Amino acid sequence: TLILGIETSCDETAAAIVRRHADGRGEIVSNIVRSQIEEHRPFGGVVPELAARAHVVHLDAIIRRALDEAGTALSDLDAIAATAGPGLIGGVLVGLTTGKALAAASGKPLVAVNHLEGHALTARLTDGVQFPYLMLLVSGGHSQFVLVRGVGDYQRWGSTIDDALGEAFDKAAKLLGLGYPGGPEVEKAARAGDPTRFALPRPLLREKRLDFSFSGLKTALRLAAESVAPVSERDIADLCASFQAAVTDIIATRARQALERHAELFPDRQPVFVVAGGVAANRAIGGALRAVAEETGSRLVIPPPALCTDNGAMIAWAGAERLALGLVDGFAAAARPRWPLDELDKGAA
Ligand code: ATP
Ligand code: MG
Ligand code: FE
Repeated sequence: TLILGIETSCDETAAAIVRRHADGRGEIVSNIVRSQIEEHRPFGGVVPELAARAHVVHLDAIIRRALDEAGTALSDLDAIAATAGPGLIGGVLVGLTTGKALAAASGKPLVAVNHLEGHALTARLTDGVQFPYLMLLVSGGHSQFVLVRGVGDYQRWGSTIDDALGEAFDKAAKLLGLGYPGGPEVEKAARAGDPTRFALPRPLLREKRLDFSFSGLKTALRLAAESVAPVSERDIADLCASFQAAVTDIIATRARQALERHAELFPDRQPVFVVAGGVAANRAIGGALRAVAEETGSRLVIPPPALCTDNGAMIAWAGAERLALGLVDGFAAAARPRWPLDELDKGAA
């Protein structure tokens, strides 16, 4: 089957064509992403109204390119998948409405995709991972451990109680006067820094539950920066390295606990541990998780960076997986600003 995927939930305008083979293997035929980083950079963060307008301006051409590069016409498709949430509602409406219009015009079924399910199922597209697996989703809006039991079938084991990890990186960068988006900037600056110079807290870590808290860390970082003001380039590198060391420590500790729980639940199965979302592109975090995976005998899967951050291929793939189970949607499908993974439709089990 051949699916068009449309993604507009945040600041990437994206479309892709993905093929799902009869044996369940996936193949990306085209994958076009237009980032709005330049539009939002002057504001140091995503401005929802600007994002929605930029999606309106660019989405048609992005879809055109995805179809052209794949050498396909609308009539070749088996379905049209579009993100229906969660995300910035203006952008979600643009993509979902466009998806509905294309579905209506071509007579193809519509699949209204949950953006988080797109992140969650990407490892099946890239690495053919089988259910069940443990996922750590760390993105701009989410930080959570999820047991992925099947399409539409998710069990959340723990989440952040305040900021998401990507958001924490973005706020840390802003505070230190680095560029936007902050994650890659902090990682770059940290490379030259001393991670032991500033002792930053590891909130919640003494508690056993699998939740995160990152907002206190941001305050601690601000106080540390003020303690050495005016900050030099050296200070910024050390602050970034210390921040990254703290979050890496938190993530690695929680991952170890989550994999222990997995081992108790499935004693006979080697755990598959998938890391998804934009922060999965961070090398320090990836390295620490690799060590945890080795220590616990788990198989670690981190999709390539371009498929960790927002893209159309992950939406097309989630659409293909749902279509294969007969999970299609009507034109009444709603755009949702909030839509947790554990509230998804998994069809008849
Ligand atoms: P969500 O998927 O929760 O709706 P989103 O789609 O905005 O949020 P993604 O596109 O998956 O999030 O990821 C973007 C986030 O990833 C940003 O916060 C960005 O700073 C962060 N990020 C990207 N690269 C890195 C990196 N190398 N290190 C740390 N963080 C990173
Ligand atoms: Mg983004
Ligand atoms: Fe995302």
